[in-house]
This record gives sequence, structure tokens and C-alpha cells, in this order.
Amino acid sequence: KNILSVENIEKYYGKKEVITKALDGISFKVDKAEFVGIMGPSGSGKTTLLNCIATIDNVTTGNITINNHEVTKLKFKKLDKFRRDELGFIFQDFNLLDTLTGYENIALALTIQERKPKEIDSLIKKVAETLGISDVLKKYPYQMSGGQQQRVACARAIVTNPSLILADEPTGALDSKSARLLLESFEKLNRSLEATILLVTHDAFTASYTNRILFIKDGKIFNEIVRGSDSRKE
Ligand code: ADP
Ligand code: ADP
Repeated sequence: KNILSVENIEKYYGKKEVITKALDGISFKVDKAEFVGIMGPSGSGKTTLLNCIATIDNVTTGNITINNHEVTKLKFKKLDKFRRDELGFIFQDFNLLDTLTGYENIALALTIQERKPKEIDSLIKKVAETLGISDVLKKYPYQMSGGQQQRVACARAIVTNPSLILADEPTGALDSKSARLLLESFEKLNRSLEATILLVTHDAFTASYTNRILFIKDGKIFNEIVRGSDSRKE
């Protein structure tokens, strides 16, 4: 089942003499339970692309469809609900709320969705176990390591069962051991919970954990590799 469809999008910043073409005709599709990486150097358009898919930024031309919603046509009033129900976000800088415990950070999105406390509790415990963060749920972000904070952020992103998880340089602020643990967590979310994940990075090690890598440069996809494709029967 197709979850994300990006059709020939272009994105310009600025106008007249100072115009920048950040995205120059990007098209690709992501199916349910795929783990896809977008890799490219600084300035290649990765964040712009992710922000357009995240409905944080608008495309100049082209279409983006997520789980049958044409997001490029969604009106302002519907965007909040759309993001809340369909998307999970993981940022480079974790973005946890400092005044809430790990548990409360994860619970917040579910509370906004008006789920019952019992259901919230069992969902959080399940995902915390999958990600190995059961013992930090009572802690505040400043009491956790960077890697733990990022796995809490992962739990927060997945717990609402969104159709698509978007991660922007998720390992960017982590040491290599924490990065590896985080990437193993992504693999678990993808394999055990069938999460569909789109990750952007400039880091080859991070990208190597995905199942398919799209290479982007100057706002264009110029190559694609599918991991283990030689051993897979099409
Ligand atoms: P990456 O995430 O791969 O580093 P970006 O998407 O941030 O790339 O940037 C792509 C291009 O768009 C770059 O040339 C960058 O300078 C330009 N750009 C990004 N954001 C803006 C903005 N808000 N205003 C003007 N130009 C921008
Ligand atoms: P970069 O990839 O250039 O290092 P960041 O990972 O810090 O940038 O952020 C990527 C983009 O995500 C930014 O352009 C910002 O607008 C957006 N962003 C970051 N945090 C949030 C947030 N809490 N809510 C919505 N958008 C955010």
C-alpha cells in the first residue's frame, strides 16, 4: 500500500535576483512499512524536501499525497489534525518538553487525541519496552543521555501509530554508540511495528540502516540504491 507519493515538486525561495531553486522536480513513492533514507550534502535540499512533506513548508509546484490525503491542498485549519493523526516527527535536537517526564512527553500526543488513560498507559509501556527506555520514563529530559532522549522522541513519534514518520538528521547530535542504538530502534519500529519511516541525513552510516536510499543533489534525485536487492526476488 502506497503511503507517500511525491510528484514532480519544485520549491523556490525568494524572488527575482535572489531566487534559489531548492527542489528541482523531485518524484518518488514510499510504501507501507518501508524505511527510506534521503541522503545528500549540505544545501542539497534535504530539509526543504522533508519540511514540504511535513506540511511545515509549501511546495511551489507539484503534489504530495500522504495516506490518500493530498497535503498540498490541505487548508490551514485541517493541517493540525492531519499532522497529529498522520505524521510522527523526530528532530536532530530531540525537541522534548523540559518540564515533562519521558512518560509525560510520550503521553502528550495521545492525550490530545483524547485517548483513555488506561489505553495511553498500555501503549506507552509497550513502545517503551520495544525501545529499551522503560527505566527512563520517570526521568526528565535533563536527567537522560542524548541517546535516551532521542529514543523517547522516537517513542513519542510512533505511539500514535502515524502513517508516516519523518526524521531529520536524527543521529546528528549523538555519539556513535548512541547513534547505533537509535538506528537499531528505527529498525525495530520498522520491522516489529511496521512503521513507515522517511529519514534524511548527510551521514552514510545513518543512511546505511535504511532499506532504500535516494541520493539528492542540487534539489534533484540522481541515484537510488535498494539494500539487499541482489538477494531479493522481485
Ligand atoms: P539541506 O537540508 O540538504 O542542507 P536545505 O533544504 O536546507 O538543504 O537547502 C536547500 C537550498 O535552499 C540551499 O541552497 C539553501 O541555501 C536554500 N534555502 C533553504 N532554506 C531557505 C530559506 N528559508 N530561504 C532561502 N533559501 C533557503
Ligand atoms: P537542520 O536539518 O538544518 O539541522 P533542524 O533539524 O534543526 O535543521 O530542523 C529542521 C527543520 O524542522 C527546521 O527548518 C525547522 O523549521 C523544523 N522544526 C524543527 N523543530 C520543529 C518543531 N518542534 N515543530 C515544527 N517544526 C520544527
